[in-house]
Order: sequence, then structure tokens, then C-alpha cells
Amino acid sequence: MLVARYAPQVVAITGTYHRECYEAWYFGRFGRRPTLLAGTNGDRHRFQVREVRDKAA
Ligand SMILES: [Zn+2]
Repeated sequence: MLVARYAPQVVAITGTYHRECYEAWYFGRFGRRPTLLAGTNGDRHRFQVREVRDKAA
């Protein structure tokens, strides 16, 4: 998915998402906010998600 260049983004294994979209999706799926790590690659509007495995693992 393409995202606006300077909008806050989340970089996950599966792709790059708007932060707001990602948080909404994550919350709907896992019932809590994702753990995001700011400032990856010196890029302030990019966040890296600490990956969660699907439930069981
Ligand atoms: Zn979006």
C-alpha cells in the first residue's frame, strides 16, 4: 500500500502503513496498541513495529 510521504508510517514485515491505519487494524485484531519503535533509520516519521506472531507462538 502506498502511503503519503510524510505521514507517520509503520514499517512492518508485510509492508508500510499509515500509523493510524496500522494501529486501528492492530487494535481490532489484538485488542491492544502495537509496540512501535520510533526513529528507525534516522527517519522520524517512520516507526518500526515489534512484530507479533499470530497468537499461539
Ligand atoms: Zn491509511
